[in-house]
Amino acid sequence: MSLKLYNSLSRKIEDFVPINPELVTMYTCGPTVYYYQTIGNFRTVILSDIVHRVILFNDYKVRHVSNFTDVGHLNGDHDDILDPNTGEDKIELQARKESKSAKEITDYYIDDYKQSLNQLNIKSRTFTRATEYIKEQIDMIQVLEKKGFTYRTSDGIYFDASKFSAYGDLSGYKANQILEGARVDINSEKRNPNDFALWKFSKPEDNRLQEYESPWGVGFPGWHIECSAMAIKELGVSIDIHIGGEDLRMIHHQNEIAQSECATGEKFANFWVHGAFLQVDGGRMGKSLGNAYTMQDLVANGVDPLAYRYLCLTAHYRSPLNFTWESVNAAQNALHNLYSQVEELKEVKNSEIDSTYHSRFKEALNEDLNLPRALAVVWDMLKSGIPDETKVVTLAEFDKVLGLNLLDHVGFVIPKKVEDLAKTRDAYRKAGIWDKADIIRKEIDSLGYLVEDTKSGYKLKRKI
Ligand SMILES: [Zn+2]
Repeated sequence: MSLKLYNSLSRKIEDFVPINPELVTMYTCGPTVYYYQTIGNFRTVILSDIVHRVILFNDYKVRHVSNFTDVGHLNGDHDDILDPNTGEDKIELQARKESKSAKEITDYYIDDYKQSLNQLNIKSRTFTRATEYIKEQIDMIQVLEKKGFTYRTSDGIYFDASKFSAYGDLSGYKANQILEGARVDINSEKRNPNDFALWKFSKPEDNRLQEYESPWGVGFPGWHIECSAMAIKELGVSIDIHIGGEDLRMIHHQNEIAQSECATGEKFANFWVHGAFLQVDGGRMGKSLGNAYTMQDLVANGVDPLAYRYLCLTAHYRSPLNFTWESVNAAQNALHNLYSQVEELKEVKNSEIDSTYHSRFKEALNEDLNLPRALAVVWDMLKSGIPDETKVVTLAEFDKVLGLNLLDHVGFVIPKKVEDLAKTRDAYRKAGIWDKADIIRKEIDSLGYLVEDTKSGYKLKRKI
């Protein structure tokens, strides 16, 4: 029942065998911190969190690094067409728009991002900022230059993809093949369509806010080199698992592999894990479509961030997930039902976990992260006849992966004051004094509880 993961590189489900069984290494491509992140980005973050937690669940230790791109990501990729070698630097553009420094912009959006991670119960990881690894990026480009993998054009130093024979193993596109949907490259100095910038020269007319000295002149690093330089510096030349959204597989990740393996001569990452897109209303999500929702949008619409996490767990990570306000509200209802079930459990200590449910849960996780099946095991266990105390300790294990704060709801006790108010309200209702009953309902509500009337009498619930 060991962990099996789908590897985008081999296009097969493989047994996960760590390079060093003492410490699993993981790298997740993080956000370009020029604006609020979309819930689509957070779907990938939740996936990386689940992988992290599943690794721990399998009794490994893990070192997980994720970056902030705070320089060098050009907006040539717009919504869907990827060409990060062209266009304007996203950070610089936003800084000018908001009349702030690049650092003020990136600090602000990094804080915002971290807040969302907290709301989503994302386990801690080590963060790296591209601007703090400029030296490592320059060093790596120099190694590539010495080994003959680079060439110079009028706007920067480029990687010659045709010199890496494994180019295309991940993306399916060799160095000289034009990617489907890509616009014709305007840079005629590139030797192959899939060559990419390692270092870009500053142009005086750009008045760049962030630029650095280098052996090739003042400029800034290309977007791809940062992840390779930071991953290798923080995790070593070969890492176990590299994660990102599926939009990164074709170019960014293929280029990370090319430059890393040419620089070190070692395999860069054993497993490539890619999360499928989040769709909105059955279609594409995009800023230009006005449906690139953020965590703030969810909260403003009364959606608990953990309900969004729950929604993500209901679909397999390699399948598209359709976000609609109905689907996220249904997830919120399901989560609240789960909490209600957990509230019924009495907390009793010193019990053993239920090994049958535990192995069913672990089996689902280890079968390429089948979270929908793992969630079904949670529901089955709660409905089963096993004693409460066994349910509680087993649930505690499950929540180490689910991250839904389930244990906060165990053994929920209604405060006496709320219980008394509910009794008084019930008496008014029975007497037909509806206005007084309603005033008390509002008071109960203001204390953070909901009172529901059922055939068998009223029921109190904690507002979540
Ligand atoms: Zn990356």
